[in-house]
Amino acid sequence: MSGATSGKPVSRAIIAIDGPAGAGKSTIARHLARHFGLLNLETGAMYRAFALKALRAALPLDESSSLERLASQTSIRLESGEAENRVLLDGEDVTGLIRNQRVTDAASRVSVFPAIRAWMVRLQQQLGEQGGVVMEGRDIGTVVFPQADVKIFLDAAPEVRGMRRFDQMGPAAAIPPEQVLRELHARDERDRNRPDSPLRPAEDAVLLDSTNMTLDQVVQAAEAIVARKMGVCL
Ligand code: C5P
Repeated sequence: MSGATSGKPVSRAIIAIDGPAGAGKSTIARHLARHFGLLNLETGAMYRAFALKALRAALPLDESSSLERLASQTSIRLESGEAENRVLLDGEDVTGLIRNQRVTDAASRVSVFPAIRAWMVRLQQQLGEQGGVVMEGRDIGTVVFPQADVKIFLDAAPEVRGMRRFDQMGPAAAIPPEQVLRELHARDERDRNRPDSPLRPAEDAVLLDSTNMTLDQVVQAAEAIVARKMGVCL
């Protein structure tokens, strides 16, 4: 990323946070949004909501044409909230239904299809076009908003991401850590190797590796990146 500031007020900024699962994107995006007074938009929740609909319709998740038909009859809305986004699927609040392992896996499968991605990208561009947003996902800095004012690619070693995910899920999930790691690895592989919009840092993204950092340190580093790029004092 160049040293020049964008010249835009931070209240109108588009901040892109990309990276693999379990890197801490949601936590960092939430902190940045609160700190700089921006909307926090989690694009993964949109793929998850669509995946939930596909599962409910018992559609094969490896067949683009039926998924495309379903997409054409689907409305997904994302509303920014303090703790997390509210996701409305055809008007139904599905926020509490999209974080389980089944939907997580299905979201990673339906998101490989170019037609599904193109539809989602359009929705996400509409949501963020006015600026004043922290948008988090896999392709925000590369595809959704290549002109974003700030791009952060947040990463961490796979074992660390797996353990964070395991801790987040808590004992109630009753899934052993090895399985969490295996599933995270499978999702990573799909995200990084899909032909359309694979997960990769934008050329002008700042890479932030949180493997050996505490949450506080990552938050501070991310705030400093935004402040530097936007030319504001912390
Ligand atoms: O970020 P989250 O884990 O909620 O995303 C769920 C899935 O949606 C990811 O595994 C990824 O395959 C897909 N996704 C994507 N592009 C985005 C956001 C999420 O492909 N911008």
